Amino acid sequence: MAAEIERPRILYGPAGPEPPYPLRMEGTVISGFGRGSKELGIPTANLPVDEAATPWIATAKSGVYFGYASLALPPSHPDHHARHQGNPLAPASAPPAPLSSSSVPPTAPTSQWQIYPMVMSIGYNPFYKNSVRSAEVHVLHKFAADFYDAPMRLLILGFVREERDYPSLDALVVDINVDCEVARQSLARPAWTPRQGVVDGASGEFDGSWLVREE
Ligand code: ADP
Ligand code: MG
Repeated sequence: MAAEIERPRILYGPAGPEPPYPLRMEGTVISGFGRGSKELGIPTANLPVDEAATPWIATAKSGVYFGYASLALPPSHPDHHARHQGNPLAPASAPPAPLSSSSVPPTAPTSQWQIYPMVMSIGYNPFYKNSVRSAEVHVLHKFAADFYDAPMRLLILGFVREERDYPSLDALVVDINVDCEVARQSLARPAWTPRQGVVDGASGEFDGSWLVREE
C-alpha cells in the first residue's frame, strides 16, 4: 500500500490537456449516498448523470479524474464573490447609468461562475443497482457553507487512477489526499490553468470559457 503513495504528483505533459479531454458535464448539486464523505474531511458534491447530455460517460473508465469545477453560488452564500460590476444589489449610492438609447446596461455583469480545481470520482450509483453511472466532485477549496442545489459545471482534464480496494478507511483517506495533491500540481502549470482565473489562484493559458459562459 505504501508504494501507491509514491506515485507521481504531476500527470501528463506541460502542453495542456490531450484528447479526449476536456470532457464536459453540468448539472445541479444533489444529495449523495450518505456515505459520510464529509466526516472523512472529503465532502463530494454529487451531480445527476444525464447520459443523453454526456454520452462519453457511458464508456468512461470508473475511477478518479481531475480538472475544474465552476459553481454559480447564490449571493447569500458566504463564498459568493462580489464580482458583478453592474450588481443589481448595489446600494442606491452607485453612480447613475449614463443616458443611452439602448436598454443594454453599459456595464454588463461579469460572470457569476467561480472556477475551482477539483478531483472527482466516476463510478456506479448504488441506488440503481450499479447500472447507472455516478459522479461526485471534491472541490479543492474550503467552503464556509454547503452548496446543495447550486449549478455546477465540470471540465475534466485527465484521469488519475482506477478504483481500488482499501484495507482501512485511513488508507482510503491517504490515497484521496494524494489524488488532491496530484490534481493541484498537475493543474498549476500555465497550459493547465484557465485564462479566466481560479478562485484564490492565478490565471493561465487554458481556455476555460465554457465554465463561465452566460446562457
Ligand atoms: P452527500 O452524501 O449529500 O453528497 P457529502 O458528505 O458528500 O454528502 O457532502 C457533500 C456536500 O458538501 C456537497 O453537496 C456540498 O454542498 C458540500 N461541500 C462543502 N465543501 C465541499 C467541497 N470542498 N467539495 C464538495 N462539496 C462540498
Ligand atoms: Mg457526496
